[in-house]
Amino acid sequence: MNIHEFQAKDIFARFGTPIPPGSVARTATEAKEIAEEIGKTVVVKAQVHVGGRGKAGGVKLAETPDEAFEKAEQILGMDIKGLTVKQVLVTEAVDIAHEAYVGVIMDRQTKRPVFMVSAAGGIDIEEVARDTPEKIHKLAVDPFLGLLPYQARDLAFKLYDDPKVANQAARVLTQLYLSFMSSDASLAEINPLVTTPDGRVLAVDGKMNIDDSALYKQPDIEEMRDPDSETAAEIEARKAGLSFVKLDGDIGCVVNGAGLAMATMDLVKYYGGAPANFLDIGGSSNPDKVVSAMNIITSDPKVKAILFNIFGGITRCDDVANGIVSALATIAKGPGGPLKLPIVIRLTGTNEEEGRRILNEVELVASDNMADAVQQAISLSQS
Ligand code: GDP
Ligand code: MN
Repeated sequence: MNIHEFQAKDIFARFGTPIPPGSVARTATEAKEIAEEIGKTVVVKAQVHVGGRGKAGGVKLAETPDEAFEKAEQILGMDIKGLTVKQVLVTEAVDIAHEAYVGVIMDRQTKRPVFMVSAAGGIDIEEVARDTPEKIHKLAVDPFLGLLPYQARDLAFKLYDDPKVANQAARVLTQLYLSFMSSDASLAEINPLVTTPDGRVLAVDGKMNIDDSALYKQPDIEEMRDPDSETAAEIEARKAGLSFVKLDGDIGCVVNGAGLAMATMDLVKYYGGAPANFLDIGGSSNPDKVVSAMNIITSDPKVKAILFNIFGGITRCDDVANGIVSALATIAKGPGGPLKLPIVIRLTGTNEEEGRRILNEVELVASDNMADAVQQAISLSQS
């Protein structure tokens, strides 16, 4: 799960990281009030789950409260990489002498938290990583020992010559590590980590990604979830316990198991089609999940055909069949009447015979061949 800049900064601040003061506004009037309270030049910043807001015009300086109102009015409602800005952070502007990048990620290769730091921080860090990777310094941390003080200083001196500045940065790195570990984050970064002309070190931007599988033990962070950042389909999928990723194609896929879901999407592509989604109903045998899956897929107007690909192991084919029948009955009672989209079903494995019998009762036929089912779904989507 992504959290917003202001939320990441709240977490950093709990561990003592210096953050410019500020608050979040949902209207231009609120933004003006916050600017009045701060009483200095402020920055108005779009709060959306995407990087590069500065380049997209989502970060603007405002010298007066009236200007903060104007800038907030421009930014609120703005579209940044497909996301609509619903709230802005109004925060005290900082004089910038230098911008560094500091980040920590959970690294699969080393199986450790890995720090990445660079003196060439700011809005062009992606180019730095691509064109001059030698300017990025890395350090893998032993999770049992944590970031040791000498390691933090070593990283900090790769960024700064002045010991006064480096010592502040070493503290920030230690705090960033604690923020990262205590939040079950997969990523925590500060870009830019700013040095002011008078030698203070401040986190001017913050980004955190939290491991979804750890959210059950992070209730405070779960509360930070922004409902505006999820589509209706994503919310329904999460509540139903489905793994769902929306894609651009027109074949709605309902599959059990992430591996089979990937293989199904590959096969759809292989035969010249385009999947409308990744959807894994999981290993459970709950017909309600199938109903939710059908709701999600049929609410996408781009979908031209629905493809079920079920390989029954723990998932029972009769449960999936019952789910399909009950979803069709619910849809038929709805405002649009009976489902008009073609459904292709591939069913094999546990309780397959019973599953077929249930489907036959409503005149649906299940194939036991994945390649046939995929090709049939594609041809029906095109007719
Ligand atoms: P991002 O573009 O989404 O990463 O948003 P940032 O919060 O990192 O802001 C982008 C850039 O705007 C920063 O790299 C700074 O150069 C500039 N910026 C942000 N806040 C301030 C500020 O308080 N003062 C000044 N002078 N520049 C700022
Ligand atoms: Mn940034």
